Amino acid sequence: MIRRLLPYGVALAAVAVVAAGLGVAAWALALPRIETFLLVFVLLAGAIAWQLGRGPAVLATATFALVSDYFFIEPQNRFGTTTLSDSVHLITGVLAAAAVIQFVHVARHDQLLLRKRKELLQDVSPRIIQSLDADEILNTVAEATLRVIDYQHFRLYRWDEAAERLVLVKSVARADPYTGIDWHTVTLALGEGITGIAAQSRRSILVPDASQDARMVYPSGVSPIKESVLSVPMVTQNRLFGVLSLARLRARSLSLEDVPVMESIAAQTALALANAEQYAEAEQTIKALAMIETLQPPDGGLPDADIDQRILQGFVDLSQADLALLRRLEADKRYHVAAVGGRSWPKNAVSTGEPLTAAQVAWLSDPKVTVYVADPGTDQKLPDWAGRGAQLAGVKAAVYLPMRAGQRFVGFVGLQWRRPRWFRPEQLGRLQLLAAQAAIALDTRHALEHERGRAEALAELERARREFMQIASHELRTPLTVIRGYASLLEEGSLGQLPQPARQAVQTLMDKSSEMRAQIERMLLLARLEDGAALPQMAPLDLRTVVTEAVERVQPQVQLKEGRLRLELAEAPLPILGDSERLGTAVDNLLQNAVKFSTGPPQIEVVGHRENGRIHLVVRDHGIGIPEAARRHLFEKFYRVHNPQLQNVAGTGIGLYLVRQVVEGHGGRVRVDSHLDEGSAFEIDLPVAPETPCSPAGDGQGGETPSPLVGEGRGGG
Ligand code: ADP
Repeated sequence: MIRRLLPYGVALAAVAVVAAGLGVAAWALALPRIETFLLVFVLLAGAIAWQLGRGPAVLATATFALVSDYFFIEPQNRFGTTTLSDSVHLITGVLAAAAVIQFVHVARHDQLLLRKRKELLQDVSPRIIQSLDADEILNTVAEATLRVIDYQHFRLYRWDEAAERLVLVKSVARADPYTGIDWHTVTLALGEGITGIAAQSRRSILVPDASQDARMVYPSGVSPIKESVLSVPMVTQNRLFGVLSLARLRARSLSLEDVPVMESIAAQTALALANAEQYAEAEQTIKALAMIETLQPPDGGLPDADIDQRILQGFVDLSQADLALLRRLEADKRYHVAAVGGRSWPKNAVSTGEPLTAAQVAWLSDPKVTVYVADPGTDQKLPDWAGRGAQLAGVKAAVYLPMRAGQRFVGFVGLQWRRPRWFRPEQLGRLQLLAAQAAIALDTRHALEHERGRAEALAELERARREFMQIASHELRTPLTVIRGYASLLEEGSLGQLPQPARQAVQTLMDKSSEMRAQIERMLLLARLEDGAALPQMAPLDLRTVVTEAVERVQPQVQLKEGRLRLELAEAPLPILGDSERLGTAVDNLLQNAVKFSTGPPQIEVVGHRENGRIHLVVRDHGIGIPEAARRHLFEKFYRVHNPQLQNVAGTGIGLYLVRQVVEGHGGRVRVDSHLDEGSAFEIDLPVAPETPCSPAGDGQGGETPSPLVGEGRGGG
């Protein structure tokens, strides 16, 4: 109350101060009256109206009329006028003041209104701009507009580029008759209705009385409404986003002052929609990329057809194409239909597309073409098959995207629309990106298939090799046994005494057949190990027996080369659980290598003993030794040390591989220690058998210290 009365008090005070000032001036100057007092009071009334409003100014005018009548108009110091001129004077002053007050009031009101709107606009714009979701933007705009202009109907039309029509996407009705009308039935072409005209001309249009304007378009069955309508286009960066339309009941209820306000809101809405669109596009790209990523499972777990379909779906999602088709290069060098789809691909329709030759897709295979946009109706470059198909399907716009893996043109995607449309560069860019990713997916799959094929072929080859080895070694074994049988008869002299040269020959025969037998045994064992079918025949045994027998087998070769083999075995048994045949072959290999890889007469030591709960067997030679770099490959299958010196040493590179397989199969280990030109030592260690029927001696008793058991083999001369 006090705050409301305060301006009145201030106005009265101002009048009092000015009147007193004038009175003092009149007295000082000894003037009966000051002629300009009226002017002073009119100005004062204007100033009060400007600062304090109309009420206080009216009060001030009334007060100064009284004051001037009493103090300044003759006869002084009483109310009432004596002359007509004085009356006219007073009335003129009051009227002038009233005019000034009214003028100031109007000017001030508009200014205040404008300021208020500006403030409101400043308040709502960030909310419009900040939003990144199109629906949210529309809601915010409708609500924000209401705060600035009190409308009865709000309509927001979006420009649909594909359909080339304005489509109502938001309608807020706040009074009858708007609430009862379904406005969504109206879509407008450019130039159609006030909205269409605003969109076409990109200018705001104010219709003071819509019921009198023939340009207005109402939903069918709705009679023209007595209303004011304002339509403002939403444009940014020269691109039309749609039109904002406001309506208020009664003619001329919207004024020209509303236009700039609405234009500002429309511009911000367009900007916000553009941002939202870009955001949505980016989001879509990310989604598409994420999807493409899932197309490449490392083990190719998805069936091919699924991958093709998913690739195509990615394109459809991104482009909203009506028809879409993926063609892929296949082994017959032709481009086959791999997947079909699209928003209006006829359901249940199977594609009948014939495979295309390279010549038929030549127009796309130029590496410079990354995307081909066509209007199938007029494009002369499109090959027959494409033009004809598009015509049949009523296609008005098409995009072809070649997919390239390096230089290879591995396929392409055709996207088609039944309405004419244009493509923004970003859209095409996204599609290209997708095509590049899809090409990688297809190529990876192709490479995987290729690799799988190769692996299968290799496995087949390996199987055949094993089978061959098994058969071959079996087939060789029998005749060899016969040969060796006769040779040993000859050697023993059972078939009559032979002359010295013949005896020599028979010895060589025996020796070479031993080598051959060993080789066959190796091959057989390898075949058995790799087959996995034949399990080792594990039995408790004394390793000394295995070693002694192997030494006996190699003795003839040692003797032939005039070498020496020293065998040093523990006195107590060396109990293990094992397959004596396989272990025998393993020891054979070590002994034969020791003979083979000694340049002069072989000097070989074989030591077997038990230590720390394990059984150790060492085969040491003083031969050529093994280079450091070769040592870690030594136990690999088919590995042989590359050494020109060894060129005439026969071998296959499976001996040591077998040794390791057999030893490890017995829970043991094999190691090598070697010095070039000094010799090598191969050491096997095996676990002691848990229960040892062949030896009552436990761990740590007897046998710990090696002692000579079997005499030394000495090369015969
Ligand atoms: P192979 O004897 O049939 O060549 P192995 O697997 O038994 O196949 O041996 C692989 C290679 O290891 C041999 O080619 C040879 O170069 C080297 N090697 C094996 N044992 C010895 C050894 N005692 N002294 C020197 N080199 C050896």
